[in-house]
Amino acid sequence: MGTMVSVEIAGNSSESLSGIMEKVWEEGERLESVFSRYLPGSEISRINREAGISPVSVSNEMMEVLSRAEDISLKTQGAFDISVGPLMEIWGFFPERKGQVPSEADLADTMARVGWRAIELDRSAETIHFSRPGMEIDLGALAKGYVVDRLVDLLRVEGFESAMVNAGGDIYCLGENPDGRKWRIGVEHPRDEEEILTVLELKDRAVATSGDYRNYFINSRLRYSHIIDPRTGRPGESQVVEVSVMAPDCMTADGLATSMFVMGAEKGIKLLREIEDVDGVIVTEENGKIELHFSYFSAKNKSMQALN
Ligand code: ADP
Ligand code: MG
Repeated sequence: MGTMVSVEIAGNSSESLSGIMEKVWEEGERLESVFSRYLPGSEISRINREAGISPVSVSNEMMEVLSRAEDISLKTQGAFDISVGPLMEIWGFFPERKGQVPSEADLADTMARVGWRAIELDRSAETIHFSRPGMEIDLGALAKGYVVDRLVDLLRVEGFESAMVNAGGDIYCLGENPDGRKWRIGVEHPRDEEEILTVLELKDRAVATSGDYRNYFINSRLRYSHIIDPRTGRPGESQVVEVSVMAPDCMTADGLATSMFVMGAEKGIKLLREIEDVDGVIVTEENGKIELHFSYFSAKNKSMQALN
């Protein structure tokens, strides 16, 4: 799925640990066969080939992810939109990551194949159908978080109480760390990986971090991010350079983090405050000045903002 997954488990015997790693591996492979756009036989690849022709049956877990996508599209007023698939292709982010600026004509043609409201989910028939031809969905903003949630469920079922699962910056902190404290996750400075901007403390909670410094291309000295504003068809132009969103589950954190790049700091923070049990930090850059925006308040954050 284009990412590395790490699973750290604390405080158990080496026998139970070797057994669990095999199960983690199997579950990871199973999930890849459902959600990877790089595998022609995956469920998502089949949906993309057939759902524009007639309704396609989907698995329960695919329906769960598609439903969450719909929910986040509603909450973000369309800033989040999994129908960006064709746009990811003309901007050269998929299947290779080479990057290119499309012509205006290509952009206009492609926009006719984008729009989350044209994704029809039928929950009783358990099907998906695209009401516009040529549409393709891209779960790049949710699937990693979902994989983390499934792996954490597996660890819980197997009786593990302390672990950290990380899929390319989408993290779940199960229980406490081996020192018996909350897990501590540093938010890196987007332009200087040696510097930590703030530290988040988590227990039985997810955090998803996305930064514009991880996935972009430069063309004529302009920087193009791989997060697309579905309303313009172009890479988002907010001043957001990095986002961390905390939530009870990693899929929600993942999707909301991506949305913040499109919505911008002001609307983004407002939305994070509206949604129950979700918090976030948004980092913006304007004329070289880095600024942190928090959806919540604490003594620590105040001192961080003062430092800034
Ligand atoms: P990463 O953590 O790898 O930077 P993100 O979680 O930020 O990834 O998601 C970026 C991915 O989301 C893109 O590669 C693409 O697959 C998808 N995507 C891009 N723009 C949008 C959007 N507006 N809404 C939903 N998904 C998007
Ligand atoms: Mg995301």
